[in-house]
Amino acid sequence: MQREKAKKNLIVVAMSILLLFLFSFIISGFPVYARSPVIVIQPGHSVGYDPGATNSSTGITEAAVNAAVAGKVATKLGQLGYTVYLTHPVAGCSVQSLLTNAEANSLSNVANAINKIKPDLAISVHHNSGGSSASGYEFYWSSYRDFDQEGVYEVSGLWAGDTAFRDSSPCWAAQESKVFASVLEKNFNGIGIDHRKTVERDDYVQAHVTCPSVLIEGGFISNPSESLLLASDAFQEKMSGRIVNSVSEYFGGATKDEKAPTADSITTPESPTTNAVFTVTANGVKDDLSGVSDVRVAIWSFENGQDDLRWYPAQNDGQGNWSAKIDIKDHNNEVGYYAAHFYAADNTGNDGFLGGVNVLVTVDGGIPEGISSKLLSSNQFKVHFKSSEKYSDVLFPVWSINNGQDDLIWYKGIRQTDGGYAVIVNNKDHGYDTGHYAVHAYGKDNHGKETLLGTTSINVPGMTAGSIV
Ligand SMILES: [Zn+2]
Repeated sequence: MQREKAKKNLIVVAMSILLLFLFSFIISGFPVYARSPVIVIQPGHSVGYDPGATNSSTGITEAAVNAAVAGKVATKLGQLGYTVYLTHPVAGCSVQSLLTNAEANSLSNVANAINKIKPDLAISVHHNSGGSSASGYEFYWSSYRDFDQEGVYEVSGLWAGDTAFRDSSPCWAAQESKVFASVLEKNFNGIGIDHRKTVERDDYVQAHVTCPSVLIEGGFISNPSESLLLASDAFQEKMSGRIVNSVSEYFGGATKDEKAPTADSITTPESPTTNAVFTVTANGVKDDLSGVSDVRVAIWSFENGQDDLRWYPAQNDGQGNWSAKIDIKDHNNEVGYYAAHFYAADNTGNDGFLGGVNVLVTVDGGIPEGISSKLLSSNQFKVHFKSSEKYSDVLFPVWSINNGQDDLIWYKGIRQTDGGYAVIVNNKDHGYDTGHYAVHAYGKDNHGKETLLGTTSINVPGMTAGSIV
């Protein structure tokens, strides 16, 4: 009995340990690692000490672009729960650094500092120099490590007279470097410039760190137009997102970008009128990981359903506010409410609804001759009859099409300063009916004789303007 009980206790203890072990995985979010992986990002070169490649026509320096991309990668990885270090500081990035900019001007300092904290991965961010039309990105990993001399052989290097070391029996970290390079290669696909090569090269940091490590050459600073692309925030967002996704994929993390972008608000334009152009804006559009790639807006007037639906690409003002200009003439100059529905995609292809607004478009300019009607709000409209003829009275029978003439009201027109007659109709006096209203105008002469002057109709949307995010 005693033995049996002891055995049971042992099973309970073993189960508890197993559960604790499983929980530690769940809490950390990384199924492969019991702790969050430690990652070091090296912004290649050092702002203020070594600019790296420089483009004399655009003035863009490699060190500045490297720092911007490295800072974004480090920040995003930190947000995902990784333990992240920069080898040296990036202006505006709060991620901790291992060295000062001055110290990081020595690559042996950089490799030693990385090895000291025993990270799980080190990434060097560089950009390339070559011809003025050279284009594309490259990944470098090293089979050779200075601490593993077994199997080392020498090949001719990249330049004449230069040699490089390789290892015929690469250590685990070197083999994993090749694996991570292939993950990067897969995730960079479609970034907008071409993949040139993924190759072995005994770059100093990659050949001297004890962890898996890849050097990224993100594109050519020496190419003027490519240097401008590489220096743009939009492309840096894209590249950093793809590096972060690669890290997540490499560690088997459940941290892939699976969410479409979001917006803080959608801005309604100031009372647009027919024949005008109005602007709709999705404010503060952002994406959690891979960055916003594309924002567009669908516009249609409520009149006749979505017959006039058009898609407009939205433009980023550089601050994450995306706008599109809508020419009401392209929507048959219809009055009443328009829907503006924004959608956005991120760089991983997640696409979703950002939010929308209903925009009230009213009639432009003066009042036309004869009978006309104009929406004043979602529930009110003004009927106007303008003529050079004089009447003792102008009467407006008004009813909603809904349920026939059950809500018919004869309104007496009020004399206007332009000599016409007008009345404001509120749909609360018509059972809050929405949809089309019939409006007729009758003129009464001095003998009390009534003459039909004209008819019109108007659509009362009954909707409220503003954001429906
Ligand atoms: Zn470089």
